[in-house]
Amino acid sequence: MKVFVSVDMEGISGLVRWADVTPGSIDFQLNRSLMTADANAAIEGAFNAGATEVVVEENHGVEDLCVLRMDEIDPRCRVVRGAGRPGASTMAGLDDTCDLVMLVGHHARAGSFPGIMAHTISYTEFSLVSLAGTPVGEADFFIRRAGELSVPVGLITGDQIVAEQVANLCPDVEQVILKQALGRQAGDCIPPLRARAMIQEGASRAVQRAMGHELGPYPTSGPYEFEVALRKPANEAMAENLASLNEFELLNDEQVRLVADRIELGFRRVAYLGYARRAGATKY
Ligand SMILES: [Zn+2]
Repeated sequence: MKVFVSVDMEGISGLVRWADVTPGSIDFQLNRSLMTADANAAIEGAFNAGATEVVVEENHGVEDLCVLRMDEIDPRCRVVRGAGRPGASTMAGLDDTCDLVMLVGHHARAGSFPGIMAHTISYTEFSLVSLAGTPVGEADFFIRRAGELSVPVGLITGDQIVAEQVANLCPDVEQVILKQALGRQAGDCIPPLRARAMIQEGASRAVQRAMGHELGPYPTSGPYEFEVALRKPANEAMAENLASLNEFELLNDEQVRLVADRIELGFRRVAYLGYARRAGATKY
């Protein structure tokens, strides 16, 4: 049983504000340890229940940030991290050799309220990302990518909003709710020391369910049609960049449409829109 664990930061136990997950802020170094400890709890739970291999991949800051503490992470796992990852970007380690996906520290999608640090890929750039007319978040990309590979999603940890959003697509997912969102930057939190025990138990149950064939992959296939609502109008450079790429269509100065056959390409293309304002940036 090979388990893939995607770790983000906004849904980590105890963290509620953007300042908690932003490099240079007062608690950022401490919070890296909290993130690593939540990941370790999932790894521990997975191995305790019979997993034989665990691959952890960082999702915070798309590819730009390396947040997990490598001196604290469980030495039994492998960690995929860093910029310029091939394939499905922050899902580079997720392939069809994986048997189960766990989403640790994930957050609600853009447009959610409440929802602790709710956003989709880029809070500063996008106000909403829709797939076939329905708002989606990062967890929705992971669920579909896993679905394309016939891998079930067995665990979500974060606030009650992301848990509900994941459970809507994956009804048998283990929901470990570590904080109740009270707004976008406020929450009623279970202290990390207790939260870790909950994550560990949830991860063990997820592995047991996967072994018992109680979890099914989310049925999905392309093409995927996305619309991205920009927070501010496209600048000249962005309009020029997008005009040179056939796969993007600027519907108006705040709305971009794109189609992708596979979800990994959809993820890369949406993420690219987060830096498409730079003059000459046409590679993603
Ligand atoms: Zn993040």
